[in-house]
Amino acid sequence: MNDASASFDVAVVGGGPAGLATAIALAESGARTALIARRAPYADNRTTALLGGSVDFLQALDVWPRCKDNAAALQAMRLVDDTGRLIRAPEVRFSAAEIGLDEFGYNIENRLLMAALEERAAGLAALTRFDDDAATVSLGDAEVVIRTGEGKSLSARLVAGADGRHSLCREAAGIEVKRRELNQSALTFNVGHSRPHRNISTEFHTPQGPCVFVPLPGDRSSIVWVSAPKEAARLIALSDGELSEAAETRSHSVLGRLRAEPGRHLFPLAIEQPRQFAKSRIALVGEAAHVIPPIGAQGLNMGLRDAADLADLVREAMLSGEDPGLPRVMKRYDSTRRADVLSRTFAIDIANRSLLSDFLPMQSLRAAGLHLMGSFGPLRRFAMREGLAPSWRPRRRVS
Ligand SMILES: Cc1cc2nc3c(=O)[nH]c(=O)nc-3n(C[C@H](O)[C@H](O)[C@H](O)COP(=O)(O)OP(=O)(O)OC[C@H]3O[C@@H](n4cnc5c(N)ncnc54)[C@H](O)[C@@H]3O)c2cc1C
Repeated sequence: MNDASASFDVAVVGGGPAGLATAIALAESGARTALIARRAPYADNRTTALLGGSVDFLQALDVWPRCKDNAAALQAMRLVDDTGRLIRAPEVRFSAAEIGLDEFGYNIENRLLMAALEERAAGLAALTRFDDDAATVSLGDAEVVIRTGEGKSLSARLVAGADGRHSLCREAAGIEVKRRELNQSALTFNVGHSRPHRNISTEFHTPQGPCVFVPLPGDRSSIVWVSAPKEAARLIALSDGELSEAAETRSHSVLGRLRAEPGRHLFPLAIEQPRQFAKSRIALVGEAAHVIPPIGAQGLNMGLRDAADLADLVREAMLSGEDPGLPRVMKRYDSTRRADVLSRTFAIDIANRSLLSDFLPMQSLRAAGLHLMGSFGPLRRFAMREGLAPSWRPRRRVS
């Protein structure tokens, strides 16, 4: 990568997993691409369950071969009602084999996925890296001008705002965001265990949110434990031994003895939705475009679909000799992403609310819905396919 030219077809601001995937996909689509992202070690211990087409996409980007040995296949998923309420849902088990798949996807530590993305990005001649933050983003009629913190200036006809929750690009485009803080936090940490996970992910539903055990390679799992902020603050302050014991109790010892690994992080949960996904030569991807609670492992999977769709539209525009930042392209990106993001955000919000609700009719409805899903094969299979990717979306590759 070099920075000989300061004028690009597209620029990506932000080097999280969504931004790196977007930059690689755009550069591979033939666009001269700038990536404005400071190189820094990945700062937390989150893992990502990559579902359905996400793995195909990373394969097509030549990222997956660089990290697949560090990922664990997800072949089945158990939902266990651990609310202790009078009205409880029966256990529901989803199996990939039931819909003709070997696995739903793979779980991988974000830092290892990021290393593979960084390695691939570094090998692309069409990608120029600015190891810096974007300090200002200024809109023009024919291009967007970005000035970096160290005073470099570059321009692009289209900017992908992959700069996370407090997106400067989104603000520059004047896109408003609807934001709702949830009174929940997610604690993440990894554990080793004495019994094998058999590639089954287990989700315990509690009155404060789900606590999910997701397989990692070997006898290890990642835990996302959603609870009220006060309880989350208590959990994160426990010693390794106490946290291991608390997680073992929460899991009803399905994985045997647990041993918490070093490192834990807390994420206050929120739902964020911008009014538009693209405007004035700026297209939003990743958490700049959607923030949802970590239920059903949808966040980065949606971010990768943002990247794939944007790269497809840019490639199409450039092949026909068009400016990729034209309002027509922006409008298509907005409508392409809207249905996916809005429908998933709605479904996850409802699933979360129904779990937290003290309202008996709501609890009955939830239990009946899960009962139906557990006992009625076609509905269960529909839910599985829909959980992997929107049914209207063709599985496609970017290459
Ligand atoms: C507990 C938890 C578990 C999750 N589990 C899953 C899962 O299993 N599956 C799944 O699909 N999703 C999951 N998610 C969601 C997923 O982690 C996020 O969607 C994803 O990490 C967001 O990536 P991003 O690149 O959009 O944002 P970020 O990782 O926030 O990256 C944004 C980047 O932009 C940079 N930046 C900001 N401003 C600027 C600027 N001005 N100039 C340059 N750079 C800038 C930041 O430094 C950062 O590096 C989970 C989320 C949580 C909280």
